Amino acid sequence: MAKVNPFHSKLTGTKVYHDNNQCTEGNNIETKNRIAGTGGLPKCDHCKRL
Ligand SMILES: [Zn+2]
Repeated sequence: MAKVNPFHSKLTGTKVYHDNNQCTEGNNIETKNRIAGTGGLPKCDHCKRL
């Protein structure tokens, strides 16, 4: 597992940010839809467990 800079999706409905490159949910976000930073969102539950 590896920590990465926080990022979130720019798509509507986004409620969390991700900060781990092993997060399948985060990896499902296409690069073009990624925005750097937390966006003021809570951390992804999956990332918390990694
Ligand atoms: Zn995540």
